[in-house]
Amino acid sequence: MKILIKNGRVIDPFQNIDSKREVLIDRNKIKGLYPKGKGPKAEKIIDASNCIVIPGLVDIHTHLREPGFEYKETIKSGSLAAVRGGFTTVCCMPNTNPVNDSIAVTEFILEKASKEGACKVYPIGAITIAQKSEQLTELEALIQAGCIAFSDDGKPVTNSLMMRRALEYSKIFNVPIISHCEDLKLSEGGAMNEGFVSTIVGLRGIPKAAEETMVARDMALCELTGGRLHIAHVSTEGSVKLIRDAKSRGINVTAETCPHYFSLTDESLISYDTNLKVNPPIRTPQDVEAIKQGLKDGTIDVIATDHAPHHIDDKDKEFDAAAFGISGLETAFALSMHLVDQEILDLKQLVKLMSLNPSQIMGISKGTLSPKANVDITIINPKKVYKVDSLKFLSKGKNTPFNRWALKGTVEKTISMGKVYEWT
Ligand SMILES: [Zn+2]
Repeated sequence: MKILIKNGRVIDPFQNIDSKREVLIDRNKIKGLYPKGKGPKAEKIIDASNCIVIPGLVDIHTHLREPGFEYKETIKSGSLAAVRGGFTTVCCMPNTNPVNDSIAVTEFILEKASKEGACKVYPIGAITIAQKSEQLTELEALIQAGCIAFSDDGKPVTNSLMMRRALEYSKIFNVPIISHCEDLKLSEGGAMNEGFVSTIVGLRGIPKAAEETMVARDMALCELTGGRLHIAHVSTEGSVKLIRDAKSRGINVTAETCPHYFSLTDESLISYDTNLKVNPPIRTPQDVEAIKQGLKDGTIDVIATDHAPHHIDDKDKEFDAAAFGISGLETAFALSMHLVDQEILDLKQLVKLMSLNPSQIMGISKGTLSPKANVDITIINPKKVYKVDSLKFLSKGKNTPFNRWALKGTVEKTISMGKVYEWT
């Protein structure tokens, strides 16, 4: 069936388009973009008045929890949360049970996703067996099975030689190595950012150096090997500076941050809301400012969600004992829209950070409305304000510190895997 999307402002950074266009789609392919009023006849019209029409968002840092933690999330519920949040592609982290360090687990995820997934799911394989930093996985076999990147996310690769080898292979196979930067000795027992506020509230802190020392190590290893390094969830000013410096020296590094690292400061922890407990932790106002500047000047390439859904029992505990993580897929875009309101980014830059750049880093043909591209389209009203209601999340994880926040930017429709989801 031919569908024409009319009256919308089409933003496609890949084609350098930001203007009123009509988008014709037919049987899961984009057939063409036409000037306003010039689109051909179609069986169905979608009216995108007051909305932006953008390539479906791509999240390169999602925890889908299946296999092993289906009580927290499943591939089905997580991918539905994704499309609700405007994402049509997610890359899922391997810290499941069992860990995705084998062809069998990769194939399980892909098969489940093809049967039950509401969006495209790409598995990320583990760098080391069982994420133990002792033995590399069979990277080549995992790539052949469908993994598009490697990470031990949730844990750092503590063995520097192992990281060196992984980066050497990343060059041969041209896939990114995604590093969760954390010195486990420095962060041990910590529950929030170490600083003035942690002293006031009496919680054990995680110093910024726990992240920055490993960012520095990985930069050195990236320079040594010429491999492809991607730094996950950047949270500190020092990390931004290290990445900016490495890029200026031509080192092949990319980086991401997440909405909570530029939307919140550690002062919010005074509430002891365990939904604010994330790893790395929420930092100081100075770090938030540096993250915003990093996004603005291109030091940070991607806004990812680090969607980490948890069962309520994992969060309904004393702060020290509660699990780390935020259920992020359904609030990521609107939280990031705030950067546009603050004139830190324009809309085209934002779409680039959440769709085109993540696609290019992962080497997947997403993030554009170019003719013949698959139909991954998100239609968003960037001016409409709504109130976050976590009970309405399609994710099983209701753990968000943004509940009841008024946010601007509603996902009106998502077209994913040949299906049109109408949310309003
Ligand atoms: Zn991580």
